[in-house]
Amino acid sequence: MFGAKRERALYGILHKLPKIHRYTWIRWGVGVVATLSIAALPVLDILRFDLWGGGHRWLGEPVDTVTAAKAFAFPFLAINVVIVLKSRLFGRYLCGFFCPVGTLSRLVEWARYTDRKGRWRIAGPLTAFLVSCLMAAITFAFWVDWHVFLEGSTLARTLSAVFLGSMALGLFGIVQFMGLRFCRDLCPSGVYFALLGQETINGIEFDETTCTDCGLCDVVCPVDLKPRDMSGGPWRDERGFYSDGMSNFALCLRCGDCVVACEEVGTRGEPMSALSLGALSADARNAQPPCHGASR
Ligand code: SF4
Ligand code: SF4
Repeated sequence: MFGAKRERALYGILHKLPKIHRYTWIRWGVGVVATLSIAALPVLDILRFDLWGGGHRWLGEPVDTVTAAKAFAFPFLAINVVIVLKSRLFGRYLCGFFCPVGTLSRLVEWARYTDRKGRWRIAGPLTAFLVSCLMAAITFAFWVDWHVFLEGSTLARTLSAVFLGSMALGLFGIVQFMGLRFCRDLCPSGVYFALLGQETINGIEFDETTCTDCGLCDVVCPVDLKPRDMSGGPWRDERGFYSDGMSNFALCLRCGDCVVACEEVGTRGEPMSALSLGALSADARNAQPPCHGASR
């Protein structure tokens, strides 16, 4: 469920809350810290490459290519080990709460929603354009020294402009025209995380005793799942890179949008929300289909 219907439902709920929902705090807290940390690497010369002039930096000092590559490779490998373990045990939390593309897509969704009565409705595209340029500039600065545009040859300047422009345009295309559909259909990292997280100890759980059958959770799910029946068969057509053999637990982004909808509208006033995101009970864990792939 995408576009205006999801935006109206989810951001309509968020706008009416007396205080900012805890998932919004967590998402933006993680997103801002991660973006600033990544931006600090080239800006503060902690680690950056210079594919143009060879002026690589590590902890502020000029280093050769091999030293810079080692400084990059070891933390990169360590982070990937953590990602594998995290995805295997807890599923796609990285997609729901960390991924910059997902965070930027939500920012654009929110801007579009708040501007829905605007005359020109430019808040969405403008936000998408600005954040795409910013993210492309941060990535560019990690790989190439900006001085290439002042001192580089015509070829170096042209290649750098193409590199920078393609990143900005690609990101703009994703966040403006696909948004979270990219997570659902095309993201290669999402496929990797979903394959790892087919039987997890954490996810969405449903308590039918407090459900009012309002259906909002289905409307706001960014990947078209039915949060009330995660153990059921695949609810989606075969699309993108995904096969319909993956369980709904594996596809779930752990974004919590369905929980927000349920807490704030579906079961408002009830002592317990009908949906929760966290450690699964033994029953819910057993309900996860075993990962037999498409034969299931
Ligand atoms: S089921 Fe809930 S937590 Fe999972 S992707 Fe859908 S909205 Fe997000
Ligand atoms: S949002 Fe909550 S109350 Fe509404 S249908 Fe979904 S689980 Fe039931």
